[in-house]
Amino acid sequence: MQSSDQQRVLIFDSHLDISMNAMEWNRDQRWSVERIRKSEQGMKDKPDRGRNTVSFPALREGKVGLIVATQIARVVKPGGPIPGWYSQEQAWAHTRGQLEWYRTMEEAGELKQITSAATLNESLELWEDPGEHTPICYLLSLEGADSILSMKHLESAYQNGLRAVGPAHYGPGVYANGTDSAGRLNARGVELLRTMEQFNMILDMTHLNDDAFWHALEIYKGAIWASHNNCRRFVDHNRQFSDEMITELIRRNAVIGIALDAWMMVNDWVRGASDPVKRNVTLDIAVNHIDHICQLAGNALHAGIGSDLDGGYGKEQCPCDLDTIADMQKLPGMLEAKGYSGEDIRNIMHLNFVRFLKQFFNGQGV
Ligand SMILES: [Zn+2]
Repeated sequence: MQSSDQQRVLIFDSHLDISMNAMEWNRDQRWSVERIRKSEQGMKDKPDRGRNTVSFPALREGKVGLIVATQIARVVKPGGPIPGWYSQEQAWAHTRGQLEWYRTMEEAGELKQITSAATLNESLELWEDPGEHTPICYLLSLEGADSILSMKHLESAYQNGLRAVGPAHYGPGVYANGTDSAGRLNARGVELLRTMEQFNMILDMTHLNDDAFWHALEIYKGAIWASHNNCRRFVDHNRQFSDEMITELIRRNAVIGIALDAWMMVNDWVRGASDPVKRNVTLDIAVNHIDHICQLAGNALHAGIGSDLDGGYGKEQCPCDLDTIADMQKLPGMLEAKGYSGEDIRNIMHLNFVRFLKQFFNGQGV
């Protein structure tokens, strides 16, 4: 690990459900990926048991030093197809539990929270010369805003370091409808965005349905990014962005994190049935999605990595040349083979998101 450190490029991953894995999958993120896999042998309660790809040691091995880490809790109606809580109060309490886990990992020296320009700079310094115990530096985000009971609760979340919010997730939502649904933001959604703007928060465009996507762009004047999204050009599904959407995000100075979920990388993937080896899903396909954004932008300043690894799926739904998140270190060489310069590669692997956050924290607009 130490000897190869000069070659490894720092990686910023803009979407990891770390606390969800700790608190719902019972995965102690301090363990090696292998140890977690062994602990899950024979378990059948989740589709990805024994096939995780993320843990703190693997993040360090892959020099994934800066991440956007989520809180996530949906509100659903009984009997619906998507799992979730039956009240906003329960969802709020659930995200508080996730926050408490992040805090406990900070106390243990495993994590360090990024909330400001100063903490971002400290984090970058730590990762200039990382050691075996260097904390993973995380910016707190919320995937789907159902758990935000009121704007007072949003304020409390902000005070706890929440800096990025995606209003929707899958299907109907409290503030906006997400993937596989339709409709503009509702009145509460508009209020949410106005309040986020006042607090200076990042609006995460990921998971907004097409109507809400355009509505949100129309009304939100603050910083926007897309934490984990791929290109509809290659995967014809509303979860991904059309060229028109990507072009508008680029115009608004967003960075788009490319996800390593096989379902989002190739057409017609069937969860639980398709096989990454048979479908030849490799990291090269992620590079094609990155390249498409760069081609639309005319530069390499708007694409990043938002892997979403262990986001409710494991190796059975990952590129077959990725065993753990540390294998994201294969991406720089693949980008180089596609003609990207060293500077382009550093931009894609971390600098685009770092630059975005520096501008965001300095209040210069993004
Ligand atoms: Zn997601």
